[in-house]
Amino acid sequence: MKEQLEEILKNGVQEIENVQDLKALDELRLKYLGKAGALTAILRGMKDVKPEERREVGSLANLVREKIETALSEKLAELENAKLLADMEKEKVDITEPSRGIKRGALHPITRFNNKFMEICVEMGFTVIQTPEIETDYYNFEALNVPKNHPARDMQDSLYITDTILMRTHTSPAQVHAMETLKPPFKIVCPGRVYRNDDDSSHSPIFNQFEALVIDENVGLKDFMSMVREMAVRLYGKDVKMRIRPAFFPFTEPSIEIDATCQICHGKGCSLCKGTGFSEFFGGGIVNPKILEMSGIDSKKYSGFAFGPGIDRSVMVTNKIPNIKYLFRNDLRFLKQMR
Ligand SMILES: [Zn+2]
Repeated sequence: MKEQLEEILKNGVQEIENVQDLKALDELRLKYLGKAGALTAILRGMKDVKPEERREVGSLANLVREKIETALSEKLAELENAKLLADMEKEKVDITEPSRGIKRGALHPITRFNNKFMEICVEMGFTVIQTPEIETDYYNFEALNVPKNHPARDMQDSLYITDTILMRTHTSPAQVHAMETLKPPFKIVCPGRVYRNDDDSSHSPIFNQFEALVIDENVGLKDFMSMVREMAVRLYGKDVKMRIRPAFFPFTEPSIEIDATCQICHGKGCSLCKGTGFSEFFGGGIVNPKILEMSGIDSKKYSGFAFGPGIDRSVMVTNKIPNIKYLFRNDLRFLKQMR
């Protein structure tokens, strides 16, 4: 039995020494110290040992068990340490690796235009307001002198939610909201998205406009023209040239379209301005007194002018964007080019 124990000690320590992984080490623990293990079997056989030898064999058996346990725990510590080092090596942060760089975003061209134009408006004393994108028929049409039989009211042209509620087709309802809530004199401007049932390469169901309204005593066409000219100068520089064409809008009388020097060819004439050297700037006119009265403003005391361009066309021209849809697709490849 002594020889058996010495054999177990020799082989056990040797095997534990050679183990390379935690699973094999655990198997060795079972092989020697487990319930069915070699050492356990010997200790169970102690009852058959002669009484005079029992003491010696017993203490040898304990010594063997201690040595095997020590070998096991030393090996366990060694293997765990090695595993930790290997894991750390794997997760090591290489501080010399070049950085991937910070991806910078950019403002959308519409936002850039709006920011620039709103800044000019605020400098000129306008208050920037926001009004709902979902409007009633009254605010979108009726209060703006758009009669019941006007084609803009047709389902083909407007996006209706119910018979009387629709996506606003222009920012002009802002005029009505302002006249109902503000006391004249005032100057407001309302930028925002508008919606029409229109979809081709130069029209999108969503597009951008802004609406400006000035209400004061004794204001007329000359004030309107000089204000628009001042805006064009602040936007495009003092060399900007302007021209005026008669127009028709249901809510202004008289109505005019104002063109400004084409910002692509600077007046020389190009394909975008069809050789004229001018591109559309603003449309507007003197607010129809009927509209003032409808919104509770005394048209004998006050007059006003309103104007509002589409923004998208101007942004498309200055950024050479061929299709209006690019402005609304949120395609990162397009937006990156707009930086
Ligand atoms: Zn041009």
